[in-house]
Amino acid sequence: MASHIVGYPRMGPKRELKFALESFWDNKSSAEDLQKVAADLRSSIWQQMAAAGIKYIPSNTFSYYDQVLDATSMLGAVPPRYGWNGGEIGFDTYFSMARGNASVPAMEMTKWFDTNYHFIVPELGPDVNFSYASHKAVDEYKEAKALGVDTIPVLIGPVSYLLLSKPAKGVEKTFSLLSLLPKILPIYKEVIAELKAAGALWVQFDEPTLVLDLDSHQLQAFTAAYAELETTLSGLNVLIETYFADLTAEAYKTLTELKGVTAYGLDLVRGTQTIDLIKSNFPKGKYLFAGVVDGRNIWANDLASSLRTLQALEAVVGKDKLVVSTSCSLLHTAVDLVNETKLDDEIKSWLAFAAQKVVEVNALAEALAGQKDEAFFTANASAQASRKSSPRVTNEAVQKAAAALKGSDHRRATNVTARLDAQQKKLNLPVLPTTTIGSFPQTLELRRVRREYKANKISEDDYVKAIKEEIKKVVDLQEELDIDVLVHGEPERNDMVEYFGEQLSGFAFTVNGWVQSYGSRCVKPPIIYGDVSRPKPMTVFWSSTAQSMTKRPMKGMLTGPVTILNWSFVRNDQPRFETCYQIALAIKDEVEDLEKAGINVIQIDEAALREGLPLRKSEHAFYQKWAVHSFRITNCGVQDITQIHTHMCYSNFNDIIHSIIDMDADVITIENSRSDEKLLSVFREGVKYGAGIGPGVYDIHSPRIPSTEEIADRINKMLAVLETNILWVNPDCGLKTRKYAEVKPALSNMVAAAKLLRTQL
Ligand code: GLN
Ligand code: ZN
Repeated sequence: MASHIVGYPRMGPKRELKFALESFWDNKSSAEDLQKVAADLRSSIWQQMAAAGIKYIPSNTFSYYDQVLDATSMLGAVPPRYGWNGGEIGFDTYFSMARGNASVPAMEMTKWFDTNYHFIVPELGPDVNFSYASHKAVDEYKEAKALGVDTIPVLIGPVSYLLLSKPAKGVEKTFSLLSLLPKILPIYKEVIAELKAAGALWVQFDEPTLVLDLDSHQLQAFTAAYAELETTLSGLNVLIETYFADLTAEAYKTLTELKGVTAYGLDLVRGTQTIDLIKSNFPKGKYLFAGVVDGRNIWANDLASSLRTLQALEAVVGKDKLVVSTSCSLLHTAVDLVNETKLDDEIKSWLAFAAQKVVEVNALAEALAGQKDEAFFTANASAQASRKSSPRVTNEAVQKAAAALKGSDHRRATNVTARLDAQQKKLNLPVLPTTTIGSFPQTLELRRVRREYKANKISEDDYVKAIKEEIKKVVDLQEELDIDVLVHGEPERNDMVEYFGEQLSGFAFTVNGWVQSYGSRCVKPPIIYGDVSRPKPMTVFWSSTAQSMTKRPMKGMLTGPVTILNWSFVRNDQPRFETCYQIALAIKDEVEDLEKAGINVIQIDEAALREGLPLRKSEHAFYQKWAVHSFRITNCGVQDITQIHTHMCYSNFNDIIHSIIDMDADVITIENSRSDEKLLSVFREGVKYGAGIGPGVYDIHSPRIPSTEEIADRINKMLAVLETNILWVNPDCGLKTRKYAEVKPALSNMVAAAKLLRTQL
C-alpha cells in the first residue's frame, strides 16, 4: 500500500517561518537563527509524514521564499543587476532577487497558476550563463536522510521552469524561452547525479504547465527534455507530477510516452475528465499517483467516494502500481486543524487541513490494501452526512434571490462618459487626480488594539476611539500630502476579505488557518460553508466617520464578490458562481447604504478577479461572464454622480481587458509598476477604454522609495498611451505592509510628480 504527498506548507503551524524571516530581514536575528527555525520545521514535517505512514515523502518543497526562485538559484540564473559573482547563492543574492535592495528593485512576481500563491518570475535571455549554484535539493535530501526519512526530492521540471519564465529585457519579442532547454538540462543532470549519489531512489519533477493549453511545439519540449535526461535518470524512479486541471488528450499522450519516466501524478479533484483518459489508456507497468485528496481546499475528503474511485483505478493500473496522493501540493491549504480552538465541533468535523489530509491519504492507502480503519471511515461518513443536512448551510431566501439574478443583466442606467461628467461636476478634481488604494501602514499599536478588542480586553468605546484617532491621523496626513481623493486607511481591518466575511453569515473563521501568499506573507481565508447574507451594514460607520473629518472626497472601501470568493475556501457542494451571486447581493446592499450615507466615491476591490480565471481557455468565457456580472450586480443601483472605483492587483490583463471594460466601473486602479508596461501595451494596441484608469506608479511590495523623477517618468509613459483626462495617479496597491517612513516620502514624491506634470500639460 502506497501513499504520497505532493508537497507540504512551509510556514509552520503557527507561521514560525514568517516570524523568523521577518526578524532576519529586520536585522533582529542572525542567518543561523533563521536556518535553525527552517531546519526544525522541515524535520517536524518529515517526521509527521513518516509517523502517519506515508511512503513517498517529498523533500525540497521547503523554501525560504519561493520554489521557483529556488529553481532559479539552482540554475544560477541570477539577473546581472543583482551583482552576483558566482559561487553558491547565499541569502544576500537570494533575498535581493525576491525583495529588491537599496539600489535594485525586486524581480517580478506573479500568481502561481490560479492560486493565491505568488512566484518570482525567472528572467531569461540568450546570454544567461547557467551554472549549478544552489545545492538545496541535494542538501535537503541528505538532511532528511540523516533524520531517518528517505524522501522523494522534488524539482520544478525543466520545461515548466522555462514556460513559467519571461524573456529578459530587450529580447521580449524575439526570444524563445524553450530554446534554453539544452542549456539548463546539463544543470539538471548534475543535480540528478548528485541525488543519485546521495542515495535517492525516486525523483519528482513538477510539470504543472502540462495542464495548460499547450501547442505541439511546447509539448514536444517535454518529449525532448526527458529523452535527453533519460540516461542520467536511469536507476531512479521518476515521477512527473501535474496538477490544478485536466490534461488534454494530447498532453496526456505526451506525458505517458515520456522516456525514462515511471510514474505520473494526476489531479483527480480538479481534473474530472482525467479519469476517463486513464481508463482508456494507461501504460503498462507504470505507476499512477492518484491525487484524490484536495490540496486546494479545507473540506474533509469523502473517503467512501474516493475509495470507490481508487478501486476502479486499481483495476486499470494494477494493484501494486496505484499510489494514493494529494491533488497538488498542500501548500495551498491550511496547516493543522489541531490548532483551531474557536471552530465549533460540527464545522470542525467537516474539515481537513494539511496535517489531516496526510492522515486521509494514508487511510485510503490502507483501505485499498485491505486494512480499512473502520472507525475512521465511519466517523468520516457521518461528518459528510451532517454537512449535507445541516440547517446552518441553507438559507432559502438567499437561494431564491440569487436564482432570480440568473438570466437577467444588471447595468448602470447611463454610459461611463456621461457618468464621469456628472461626477466631475460634483467632485471637481484636478487633472491627474491622486489617490491611494485603501490601506495605510498597520502599526504594531494598531494590531494590538484590534487584538485586544477582539479578546474583550478593551471596551468598544476605547476601541472606537483608538480607530477614530488612527483615521484622523491618516486623513490629516493625506491632506498634508495634498492627495485628492482620500481613504480612511482601513485600520479596523485585519484583512480585506476576513473583515467582510466576519460580518456576513455563512462564513466561518480559523485562528491559524494561514496559507502562504508570497514570501513571508500569509492569508487566512475564511471558510464559506453556507448561504451568504448581510445581517447589517458593515463599513458605513467608519466611512462616514472618515468623511466627516474632511471636505475632500472620501472613498468608501469594499471588497468585491469575486475577490471574496476567490480568497476564501469555498463550498464544494454548489458551483462557485452560485456562491458568488449570493455575495454580490450582500455587497450591493452595502454599496447602496454607503451612497445613502453621503459617500460619493466607492471603491469595490476586485483584486483577485484575474486569478480566478480558469487555467483552460475553454472555460474562460463562462467564468468571465458570471464574475463580471457579479461585480455589476453590486453597483448597478447607484446614481450617476456616485463614482465607482475598482482595484486590481496583478498586471497581466491582456487576456481579460474586455472583461475589465465590461465591469463598467468609473475608475480602475491597477498594479502596474513591476511588470514593465505590459499593461500599457494593451492600450497601445488600440483597446478603447473610456473610464478612468490609474496604473500603479510605484511598487508597494518593496521598501524602496521611488523618486519624483522616476514617478514623473512613469506617468509620462502612461500619458503617451492614455488620454490625459482619464489618467489617475496612485501606487500599485494598498500600503498596509509598508512603514510610515517609507510611505510618507513615497507619496510625497508621487504627489509632486503629479503636480509637476500638471504644469506641463
Ligand atoms: N483596499 C485594499 C488595500 O489597500 C486593496 C488591497 C489589495 O488590492 N490587495 O489594502
Ligand atoms: Zn492590490
